[in-house]
Amino acid sequence: MATDDARLAEIERKVESGERLSFEDGLALEESTDLIAIGAMANRVRERYNQNFAYYNVNMHINPTNVCVFTCDFCAFRADLDDPRGYVMDRDQIVDRARKANERGATELHIVGGLHHKLPFDYYVDVVRWIKADFPELHIKAYTAVEIEFFAKIARITIRETLERLIDAGLGSLPGGGAEIFHPEVRKEICGAKASTETWLEVHRTAHRLGLKSNATMLYGHIDKPKHRIDHLIRLRELQDETGGFQTFIPLAFHPDNSRMAEIHKPSGLMDLKVMAISRLMLDNFPHIKAYWVMLGIKTAQVALSFGADDIDGTVVHEKIYHEAGAETPQEVSVADIERLIREAGRTPIERDTLYHKVNRDGSTWRSGDHIDVRTIEPVAVG
Ligand code: SF4
Repeated sequence: MATDDARLAEIERKVESGERLSFEDGLALEESTDLIAIGAMANRVRERYNQNFAYYNVNMHINPTNVCVFTCDFCAFRADLDDPRGYVMDRDQIVDRARKANERGATELHIVGGLHHKLPFDYYVDVVRWIKADFPELHIKAYTAVEIEFFAKIARITIRETLERLIDAGLGSLPGGGAEIFHPEVRKEICGAKASTETWLEVHRTAHRLGLKSNATMLYGHIDKPKHRIDHLIRLRELQDETGGFQTFIPLAFHPDNSRMAEIHKPSGLMDLKVMAISRLMLDNFPHIKAYWVMLGIKTAQVALSFGADDIDGTVVHEKIYHEAGAETPQEVSVADIERLIREAGRTPIERDTLYHKVNRDGSTWRSGDHIDVRTIEPVAVG
């Protein structure tokens, strides 16, 4: 790598030898303007972990309600109890959405929503149960750590009991939302009322101990500073050292429209790529880094596949949360489009299920194959 930056050269030495990067290394990466050098390092780590493959899945989002007791500054999705925009999906609507997902070949339902003032915990359990009764093969990735804590409070049970009841209903894994920024200087400003950093981490720790896999996110590009982002990544890395339960890290670019932070500009494409690359370099124990195209835009997500990302998410249908906040991406792209986007980026597409098994399709049916372990897959030539 050609860089005149002595600090980057030292970081490169560490990356090449597989040495863990420190908090100071993370700050040095944040302070550097040599995006190409940082991206090249992240790309090497990405290829070391995932060779030339880029993963996607076929999924559908369900947001059962947008009514929420909290008022996070960055949120354009929520509605008050008496807001005419507020809604709660009933059983027929939920099952109908699952049926559509099933007909379109989805392998996963991604379910997150607001924390309704009046709905009981049983409603959220039933959402999972209703779907599994009719579509047992669909993997349900549902409820952020913030929702899990809320359910525990309204049901007056522990986090462990909450997760056990959801697992019993058919919950398959946890999404990574609600992490925002862990550092208290930021968290108390943008979402001080909802689950604390310690609680978010404890929910995931408990989920991992119960055998669930989960993802993790970071909402960047608002009032966060480099030290907050590096602190966030290191806290995740420490929990992953402890449990090994995280699959994928997803940096989420802040979308200001219709939120209470609408005066803040959304992050630039350069920042998106830099955060992606730094995440890949700092999270040395996370197998996957995702470029969530719904938030990044398709073009930036494509480039991100050379800046540390190895996953591009799915053919997302009925996603409300980021589109309410101004995401201008389409609601879905077809499998053919997503594979073309990945091939254009010089990568080899692999359809995965939620738990990173290769999906094999035969006409309108599908089944999950072996777990994707890049060490056992023969490298495929670029191009
Ligand atoms: S981000 Fe989640 S918890 Fe916060 S206001 Fe929006 S829906 Fe509610």
